[in-house]
Amino acid sequence: MSKIYFIPGSQDLYGEECLKQVAADCREMVDFFNAKLGDTVTFELLPTVETSDICVSDMRAAMNDDDCVGVITWMHTFSPAKMWIKGLQILNKPLLHLHTQANEKLPYDKIDMDFMNLNQAAHGDREYGYILARMNIAHEVVAGYYKHDYVLNRIKQFAGVCKAIGLSKNLTVATFGNNMRDVAVTDGNRLEAQIKYGWEIKYWGIGEIAKLVDEVTDAEADAKMAEYTAKYTMATDRIDVVREQAKYEVAFEKFLAKNNCQAFTDTFQDLHGMKQLPGIAAQNLMAKGVGFGPEGDYKISAFSAILMKMAEGRDGATGFIEDYTYDLTEGEELELASHMLEVPAQFALNKPEIQVHPLGIGGKADPARLVFDSVTGDAIQVTLIDMGDHFRIVCADIELVKQPQPMPNLPVARLMYRLKPNFQIGSAGWCYAGGAHHSVISTALTRDDIAMFARLTGTELVTIGDDTTEADLQKFFMR
Ligand code: MN
Repeated sequence: MSKIYFIPGSQDLYGEECLKQVAADCREMVDFFNAKLGDTVTFELLPTVETSDICVSDMRAAMNDDDCVGVITWMHTFSPAKMWIKGLQILNKPLLHLHTQANEKLPYDKIDMDFMNLNQAAHGDREYGYILARMNIAHEVVAGYYKHDYVLNRIKQFAGVCKAIGLSKNLTVATFGNNMRDVAVTDGNRLEAQIKYGWEIKYWGIGEIAKLVDEVTDAEADAKMAEYTAKYTMATDRIDVVREQAKYEVAFEKFLAKNNCQAFTDTFQDLHGMKQLPGIAAQNLMAKGVGFGPEGDYKISAFSAILMKMAEGRDGATGFIEDYTYDLTEGEELELASHMLEVPAQFALNKPEIQVHPLGIGGKADPARLVFDSVTGDAIQVTLIDMGDHFRIVCADIELVKQPQPMPNLPVARLMYRLKPNFQIGSAGWCYAGGAHHSVISTALTRDDIAMFARLTGTELVTIGDDTTEADLQKFFMR
């Protein structure tokens, strides 16, 4: 279970009684968070910072604990912020500054100077906020009484983002084959991605998988086929073709586990030793939270794994998608997204069908894939691109909709959606921002989650939604 450490701040000026009360109030606060949010993350209280040495010791504890994904700090009393400098210099995990109080209301009839000295977050948190700003430390500020739903929801959101960043820092992407020849947006600076986000992007030949496919036993293939038929409807009599994909998935699973990879890419341009492009194999793996990028797109592979982790425990679907084509009926414009095969099964509205059809490109055998229509509702479409000297996240609000008419001749899974605030501004904004044709769509996450991730990782963020105007586009284009 991931942990978040709670570090309160005070000083020794107010006496032993006051410090005892600080510790007791913090204990109560942490117990409350564990009771309310314990299914997301465990909260652990560390010693109150009264000196620079205690601060360093607390931050070392946070850094030394691999299960610790983030830190929450709160100044119960005034806490001179110079004592936080050395500790904050050690901390390299997501930080939330909780601006709260142990008491909700002021006891107007009883309030005296003892109460004021004990409960002075308005004083101490501003002193502390200054040092975070002065040291330019990426952090999140959440303000309000700690038992209020707003604060709890923001802390829950922070916990999800912390877990996602924790995964990012320990993420290995297996790339089978390289970036698709001549494609720009899927490429970028892998070294910078590792320095900034922690991704180890490791290359292997797809032959490594082909070799493992040959070694898959009948029992392993049978078990995988049983998994497929339990989850999906077999709508083909070409069972051997499906079984080939089942072997691919067994091989990928073994390889990823052995090499501790949480995400992978393949490319239809490099399938040496493989009969088909991985279809249902990739789709079923994505449904288990494994990151995937086609055509060597390591960025979307890593980013999809990170966003699936962020959405863990929430209702809704999160996964990779590729923008394809539009219905430009005036005023009713829609986008149809899909991919050649690899649409994550978690978007399925109904039980997906396993079908076998020709692929049209790549010159390989007809691949088995899952075919389905998608869930509907409010969603975000988000991508991460390499601008040469920095990374940029583009996040658009969209609405997944039911396809207006059946598409009986399109044998792939598909998503349809409406752009916001309308087609013209939504699609032009995406183009101005340089958004990729590979992205992650999520009905579980919101723009707020992505904004928090962007703030805590120091990534530029461009958002598009109902609040975006034509003037915003012009500003973006002119800068
Ligand atoms: Mn593509």
